[in-house]
Amino acid sequence: MNPYNSLWTGVRPGDGPQHFHVVLLDNGRTGILADEEARQTLHCIRCGACLNTCPVYRQTGGHAYGSSYSGPIGAIVTPQLLQMRHGQSLPFASSLCGACYEVCPVKINIPEVLIHLRGRVVREQKSALDPEALAMKTAAMIFTSRTRFEAAQRLGRIAQWPLVSHGWMRNLPGMLGNWTRVRDLRALPSQTFREWWKQRAKNAPSGDPAAPLHAARRIAEDTSHG
Ligand code: SF4
Repeated sequence: MNPYNSLWTGVRPGDGPQHFHVVLLDNGRTGILADEEARQTLHCIRCGACLNTCPVYRQTGGHAYGSSYSGPIGAIVTPQLLQMRHGQSLPFASSLCGACYEVCPVKINIPEVLIHLRGRVVREQKSALDPEALAMKTAAMIFTSRTRFEAAQRLGRIAQWPLVSHGWMRNLPGMLGNWTRVRDLRALPSQTFREWWKQRAKNAPSGDPAAPLHAARRIAEDTSHG
């Protein structure tokens, strides 16, 4: 018997209960089952081992989780039972140390589910017009295409011009200023390695197609000896 089943009594002819009732309480569990990466949550037998080993739970105690399920298992089961509408901060309240996974007798990979749920929270809670979501989508679009990536490099070189001073960017505007407030950012170089490589190939004597390779080797050797 696990905590999901309560077997109280049975049918007895002539004496005692005459009817057999099965009451199934779903309470959001079908939704958990539908999520392939998170459905292992339902393997839990409520032994409590992950709670006792969790450094976060040991510091905060059970009430911090705001539901009857606390500790690492609570951090993954509660948001899912509540259709990711409440308790969304719980998957983030973990150092992902993995102690819960190590002690779990049914080997629920709680850190893996925590990361998966963090992704769901971000995807489901943020509007399409959220600046961070927009920035990430744009970055994904650029990084998945070589043509777009190279175009962005060229554009970046032009756009950075008013911000660069002696090869460094020290005062970026707006939100980006949070970065340069505490550290300097090197300006984009005037030529990327790939551009340099193409140029060398173009300038190489026609009889020696491996000339750029020899040149690169010579540079590497010079650098290591220097
Ligand atoms: S250790 Fe595993 S089985 Fe035990 S309560 Fe935590 S998740 Fe559930």
